[in-house]
Amino acid sequence: MSTYYTHSLDSLPLTDSEKQAVTKVMAQYQFRANDYYLSLIDWENPSDPIRRIIVPHPDEARGWGALDPSSECDYTVMPGLQHKYSDTAIMLASDVCGGLCRFCFRKRIFMDGSEPAKVDVPEALRYIEGATEISNVLISGGDPLLLSTARLEEIISGLSAIPHVQFIRIGSRMPVFDPYRIINDPALVKMLGSYSRPGSKIYIQTHFNHPNEITEAAQKAVHMLQRAGIILTNQTPLLRGVNDDPEVLADLFNGLARMGVPPYYLFVCRPTTGNQHFTVPVEEGYTILQAALRHCSGPAKRARFCMSHATGKIEVLGVTEDQVLFRRHRAPADKVAGEIFAFPRNPRATWLDDYLDTEADSAEALQAESAALDLPDLCKTCGAGVPRPN
Ligand code: SF4
Repeated sequence: MSTYYTHSLDSLPLTDSEKQAVTKVMAQYQFRANDYYLSLIDWENPSDPIRRIIVPHPDEARGWGALDPSSECDYTVMPGLQHKYSDTAIMLASDVCGGLCRFCFRKRIFMDGSEPAKVDVPEALRYIEGATEISNVLISGGDPLLLSTARLEEIISGLSAIPHVQFIRIGSRMPVFDPYRIINDPALVKMLGSYSRPGSKIYIQTHFNHPNEITEAAQKAVHMLQRAGIILTNQTPLLRGVNDDPEVLADLFNGLARMGVPPYYLFVCRPTTGNQHFTVPVEEGYTILQAALRHCSGPAKRARFCMSHATGKIEVLGVTEDQVLFRRHRAPADKVAGEIFAFPRNPRATWLDDYLDTEADSAEALQAESAALDLPDLCKTCGAGVPRPN
């Protein structure tokens, strides 16, 4: 099967009024999809999760959020190269993806008139060579697996030649968006496998968001990569209307575990412009995750619930009767990794910054709001949120 990519809504079974409703959105954010991924949508179901991931929605036009919610620009040392955590560099090697997720936190790089995000590879390699504290590099984008195999090999071989780069990660949603990119290019798989060596593996961090994405083709692509010696892990944001149901999340985690792809991060959806309808409040998200994990076996319950915040990767550790506990899982140079801190509960908070404002809210008001939102009661033993019985 070869994959046909489209930027037009014309081939989709949408009504004229549905197309009309997203005219403003389409003028701002591109649409991109392909026939394989679109074939996963049940068009009879207006709430289909794959449709929600890929088809523009009028709510994207709401003025909310920031185009660079994690302040990636502050850690960009040259176009397309970020150096936030001392041991890790991120290279934006591609400015195109197999589709455009409507919740994309880097949608700014796909907008008309945006600054070129792609890295100058030789310059980036020189920077990494000079920064001996960098032990691993994440090749990201856009999607690096949309580069030609030869172009991707140039980058990987350049990085592999730097003695202090101990391993390379590739962020790619191609096993999900278009597994045939992998299935139909054995040379790509062979090339990746040739750089995944004893003591220095190639990782692919992929992004399955919903169990419906775990198709036979996706399983085959994943298996081909694994057989070549690539280590795969998965990260996904928690998305309203896509995977914010404990059963769906458990199905996703268990499906990943069956493929041998450990769930690695469950991310709090970043407050990116146009993403308000995807966000799930932090405390509700924690409760959904705990409920999902009750239906997962060991290999399926490895995901950390984290926020990629401007000040570091912040893990949501737990919820007590009146507080939310966080741990700074990763930190830039001026912060302390491992630090644990707490804020008073705020059921409306969708991002760390929202907790900074909670002092203005009285405990009684928050409690009343929590009840109104039907948030869970707390476990008296461990403090974790547990769903109320129906
Ligand atoms: S795959 Fe990643 S970078 Fe590409 S559109 Fe989706 S979220 Fe954005």
